[in-house]
Amino acid sequence: MEAKRNIVIVGGGIIGSTTAYYLTRHPKFNPALHTITLLEAAPSVAAGASGKAGGLLGLWAYPASLVPLSYRLHAELAAEHGGANRWGYRKIKCGSIEAVVTKRKLSNLQKPVDENGKAWEKLPKQDQAAKGLLQDEELPADLDWIDREVVRGWAEMGSPGASDTAQVHPYHFTTSIAELAQQGGAIFKTNAKVTRLITSKTGVEGVEYLDRTTDEICKISDLTDIIVAAGPWTGRVLPRSKVEGLRAHSVVYEVDVTPYAVFTDIELPSDFVPEHRAKMGQKRFHKGRVDPEIYARPFGEAYACGEPDSAVPLPETADQVQVEEAYCDDIISYFATVSPVLAAAPVKAKQACYLPRHIRFGQESGPLIGPTATPGLWVAAGHTCWGIQNGPGTGKLMSEYIFDGEAKSANVSNLDPRKFKV
Ligand SMILES: Cc1cc2nc3c(=O)[nH]c(=O)nc-3n(C[C@H](O)[C@H](O)[C@H](O)COP(=O)(O)OP(=O)(O)OC[C@H]3O[C@@H](n4cnc5c(N)ncnc54)[C@H](O)[C@@H]3O)c2cc1C
Repeated sequence: MEAKRNIVIVGGGIIGSTTAYYLTRHPKFNPALHTITLLEAAPSVAAGASGKAGGLLGLWAYPASLVPLSYRLHAELAAEHGGANRWGYRKIKCGSIEAVVTKRKLSNLQKPVDENGKAWEKLPKQDQAAKGLLQDEELPADLDWIDREVVRGWAEMGSPGASDTAQVHPYHFTTSIAELAQQGGAIFKTNAKVTRLITSKTGVEGVEYLDRTTDEICKISDLTDIIVAAGPWTGRVLPRSKVEGLRAHSVVYEVDVTPYAVFTDIELPSDFVPEHRAKMGQKRFHKGRVDPEIYARPFGEAYACGEPDSAVPLPETADQVQVEEAYCDDIISYFATVSPVLAAAPVKAKQACYLPRHIRFGQESGPLIGPTATPGLWVAAGHTCWGIQNGPGTGKLMSEYIFDGEAKSANVSNLDPRKFKV
């Protein structure tokens, strides 16, 4: 006889949702015996980074212990549930351009000012291993939405023709997987912000949460397992996890362009001041080189993201994230210098979200996946730039930890939270 499991998942981003999904699909899950409840603080699932990310998937992503499993599961989920139509799963070409934008190109737009070179902080999407996969080549003919005149170099990611980069629309993926998890027997409660984990040295007992619709504190008792998957808020729910957040802005264009994900390195004239900044009275602009990313996306979109910032600390909930419109307009102004197609495209969203990071000794140490020192208390968080890519793998492994007592599909002992004193 299987022992009854009463499981609470904290957080309805991609990690919480895929965890709920794979728990309901696990051969040992018996809906008549086990209970899976997901508590999400925001009014809907995918309210944080999981709804606002780019959605790039790459076999060249990191960490290596998790990526191959998760990349394969994305393909399997798409095949099983019609992911191509439902959440835009598709293969995509990926590469990197070097561009030089001259003063002449900008002469109608810019006013001259002095250079003041603040370094551009980069979302760390490519690690050294991934950079090594870039192959120098001609700019592909079908990458016709980038201005050839400004491009000085193009390098393709991976071997030409290799099937090592794909994408999903992260909002549609996360909400679809959440729906499938509920169809499989998981209970999702939104507007339910977990305020306390009730644990002892010997195990977990329950959780308290604020019902944001009634302002009441509610309690769920007799738990056997709590999985904290609260993304950048994980450090708030479980401080010893040390998972924190870093804000990043992004922009979604309404435009139908050929399927490429393009990393950039754009050299701007030293006196470049975007028009919106000039209108704000800003005479200097601090960027000489910028490297925003742009991904063509399914459903007639392109997604661009810029540099992260630490200007505003993580708010209480995902629906309270502040968007600084000027940061989005910066991204738009950079892409206008290298793509007339994007310059003319309507912008359908200007948004911001927080990247979940686990920082150890001043360095990002990748996601934490697995058991903590408290029996029955689990963590699945801190996925940095690759949480969409690594969501299904994380969910699958968490379902194995819970029902089999060990991670079976991949060896992720390097991500064990107990190694980091959690
Ligand atoms: C600009 C940007 C672009 C990105 N692009 C990509 C990409 O192309 N490919 C890729 O693989 N990854 C990408 N990522 C990374 C990816 O978005 C994240 O790693 C991933 O979404 C993290 O998922 P999560 O479920 O851990 O966190 P989140 O999506 O933040 O979800 C956490 C959830 O927990 C909820 N929560 C918080 N506190 C509580 C509480 N107390 N009680 C209940 N619920 C709570 C929140 O409301 C939230 O919904 C990108 C990230 C950013 C910022």
